Amino acid sequence: MNLIFLGPPGAGKGTQAKKITEKYGYPQISTGDILRQAVKDKTEMGLKAKSFMDQGKLVPDEVVIGIINDRLHDADCKKGFILDGFPRTVAQAEALGILLDKLGTKIHTVLDLAVEEDELVKRLTGRRTCKKCGMGYHILFTPPAKEGVCGKCGGELYQRDDDNEGTVKKRFQVYREQSEQLGGYYSKTGRYKKLDGTAGIDEVFGKIEEIIGAA
Ligand code: ADP
Ligand code: ADP
Ligand code: ZN
Repeated sequence: MNLIFLGPPGAGKGTQAKKITEKYGYPQISTGDILRQAVKDKTEMGLKAKSFMDQGKLVPDEVVIGIINDRLHDADCKKGFILDGFPRTVAQAEALGILLDKLGTKIHTVLDLAVEEDELVKRLTGRRTCKKCGMGYHILFTPPAKEGVCGKCGGELYQRDDDNEGTVKKRFQVYREQSEQLGGYYSKTGRYKKLDGTAGIDEVFGKIEEIIGAA
């Protein structure tokens, strides 16, 4: 099963992708996570990506297409994969289509999570992530038992540099201008499902399981 998650920043893509990985084993491929790791490691790619990310802008297509090309060739993607945060432009979607043709596979389902902007601001500004295992939390909606400490692995929680209100507004603008149209792009394929992302995490997951179970 090859899945794509679409939706604005904070819609729950990473949260839901992690739940699918946990239950079904398909690897979660998050271009945001891969880029943040490259920034942390100060690789050439990370140094190039950082200023775009800090400004809430998209990293150039060729960079993220290169990441996805490398990652989808890994053996663990043969059983299926979940794309979280890619594609974000029509050019990325087209490049993905060509790559999947070459690999002899396709996307089975595109899940587009819809959430209103004022709710997204609350989600993003309260988001915390584990430094060690990547588990996501929210200071109000899904707080860890012990403040600042991951309930899963004991790692330290941090707030992303781009989850401040100013950069969040810019990311919404970029989403509307460059990514929102991917809903239309994929809805022509019949494999596209838009779902209400405002319900609770488990309720949204239940809907997703209904959809992928039927696919
Ligand atoms: P995305 O990957 O789409 O940017 P995340 O999955 O990181 O979004 O979720 C953003 C924040 O909102 C996180 O703090 C997460 O814990 C919280 N969150 C995710 N889904 C829900 C939900 N259905 N209800 C309430 N909070 C949620
Ligand atoms: P979000 O919580 O907004 O869904 P991500 O972790 O997916 O955040 O992405 C964080 C940042 O990484 C983006 O604002 C952008 O700068 C960069 N990025 C991630 N994925 C892509 C992509 N597919 N194309 C271009 N830039 C990307
Ligand atoms: Zn952890």
